[in-house]
Order: sequence, then C-alpha cells, then structure tokens
Amino acid sequence: MREGHGYPPGMTLHADLVLLVAAHNEAAALPLLHPRLLSVAQGLGPGVRLLYVDDGSRDGTWALLQAFQQASPERVGVLRLSRNFGKELALTAGLDHVPEGAAVAVLDADGQDPPELVPAMVARWRAGAEVVYGRRVSRAGESLAKRATAAAFYRVINALSDTPIPPDTGDFRLLGPRAVAALRGLRERQRFMKGLFAWVGFRAEALDYERAPRLAGASKFNYWRLWNLALEGITGFSTVPLRIATYVGLASAVLAFLAGLWVIARTLLWDDPVAGWPSLMVAIAFLGGLQLMALGVIGEYLGRLYLEAKQRPLYLVDEARLPPPRVSEGP
Ligand code: UDP
Ligand code: MG
Repeated sequence: MREGHGYPPGMTLHADLVLLVAAHNEAAALPLLHPRLLSVAQGLGPGVRLLYVDDGSRDGTWALLQAFQQASPERVGVLRLSRNFGKELALTAGLDHVPEGAAVAVLDADGQDPPELVPAMVARWRAGAEVVYGRRVSRAGESLAKRATAAAFYRVINALSDTPIPPDTGDFRLLGPRAVAALRGLRERQRFMKGLFAWVGFRAEALDYERAPRLAGASKFNYWRLWNLALEGITGFSTVPLRIATYVGLASAVLAFLAGLWVIARTLLWDDPVAGWPSLMVAIAFLGGLQLMALGVIGEYLGRLYLEAKQRPLYLVDEARLPPPRVSEGP
C-alpha cells in the first residue's frame, strides 16, 4: 500500500471525516486547541475523528498527544514521525493514514485555523464542493513584512506557474475523499502542499475567515524556511526559471554583438581608441555573474531531481495509535 508508514497495511483510521493536525513543538498551544477540536468532532457526529501527527517534537507534545489519545481512544489517533520532516511531509503522513473514502480537514496546531469553521466547510462540501479552502480576510498577529513577502510570493508563483494558486490561503481546508485519494497519489519528495492542493483540481470553493493569532508558542517558520518553501513552490510548479536563462543569454549575446559593432565603427570611422581595461572588466564580471546565476538555477532543479531519484521514503513512522474500526463495519 502506501510506502513509509512502517506498520501493517490496512491498519488505518476509520472515519467519515478526519480532522488532521500536524504539530511540531506545540505543547503550549495544544491543550487550548484540543478541547475545541473535540467538541467540533462531537458536534459533527460519531464518524468524525482527530488525527494528530507529531512531527519530531522535542518538547512535551508527544506526551500530551498520547494523553489525548488515551482519554478518547475511540476518537483520537496519534502518529509520531521518527524525526522532524517538516509540515508538508507531516501532513502527507497524516493523509496516508486516513481511511479510503473519508474526507479530511487540515488545521494548524496553533489555533490559527479556527476549528469552529469546519462544520461550515462540511456544509459546503455536502452541497457539492470537493474542496473547501479557507481564505484569510485578515492576518491578525502577522507582521507587515510577512504580509508583504507573502503577497509578493503569490504574485511571482502565479506568474510563473500553470497551476493557479489562490492567494491568502493556507493549508486550512476540507478535502473530499476524491481529492484525498488524488493527493495520496502524488509521491514527490520535494513538496509544496498548497501547490499540490491546487494541482489536483476538482470543484473548489473559498470560505472567508479571520485568521486568528497563535494561541501560544512561537511560529516555526522563519524567513529562511519560508524562502526555501517558496523555492520549493516555484521549482515544483514551474520550469520558467530555466527558460529565463535562455532568454537572458540570448539578449546579452545580441547586446554584446551590437556593442562589438559600435566599437568597430568607432575605431574605423572616428579613429577613437576604446578604453580597453574598464570595458573588458565590466563585460567579464557581468557575463560571469549571469553564467553563475544560470548555473545556480539549473542546480536548483538538478538537486531536486537527484533527491527524487533516490526514492527514499517520504517519512518514517516511529509510533502510531489509531482508533479501532467502527463496530458497524465488522472485523
Ligand atoms: N509544523 C510542523 N512541522 C514543522 C513546522 C511546523 O508540523 O517542522 C506545524 C506547526 O506545529 C503548526 C503548523 O505547522 O501546526 C504551522 O506552523 P506555524 O504556526 O509555526 O507557521 P505559521 O502559522 O507561522 O506560518
Ligand atoms: Mg501558525
């Protein structure tokens, strides 16, 4: 079945809807979020389960999750990855442990995605949408710089990629069973979930919401991580940067040719000797810079190709406790 989850096939969570939460060092926020998630699940019915993925936390997160699971073993499943694999892979691990035919709601562990909105998403899904994604109308608690860089990123990626990625959306969304099955089929190692969500298509509707500030703890995404995620998004969904090198090369070759003609004309017509050293240095430095940049762009793609070619499992599971199958389903 699915690679990488390290225990017998068929041993997956049974539910109609799974609330999926990836957590990395969220011991401060989870005690505040868990009761809210539980009451939303209870309100929606017996087939609604919670699945937490502990993405290699080093604080008390795993102990907390185990306690949640022991307190409601029928409803709560927990999964611990062998180390920190990053949010994108933690969500993938979660999706792999959802039973066939169940829908999934993806939420952050810090309460920024209000669980109370899930019933509204379910209603939209029942009305025919396969995917209902949360669209942020405000980003409370986020700095101006973060908002500006996020806006710039969506502009760039949507200009470069053939898969339109709606701006101001996160991973907060409800995925119908067909979208979940499609996502499971995408086994790339270098992943940008927002892009993959968009890639699978199906009828998607936006649900506007106010993005709440973090309940507790600090953000795990600093600018360096966000930059790398942005590179993942761009290289994963567009080959335009590779083509840009061709056009920049072509343009600078044409310019160089024209400059050459100009130099010859000046020497022949006006007998005007060209200052050699400065112009040569400028040309060498400029072309050297362009060539290194183009190599760097090729390197970004080549490195990703290399990582994909190794075919390592996407993640490894250290421990999993999943609720038993529902009684009505038999053994
Ligand atoms: N997260 C994760 N693995 C990581 C980093 C983050 O599972 O390596 C989870 C984190 O616990 C949270 C979600 O991803 O549930 C979003 O992280 P965070 O709130 O730090 O990001 P922000 O909301 O600031 O973009
Ligand atoms: Mg957050």
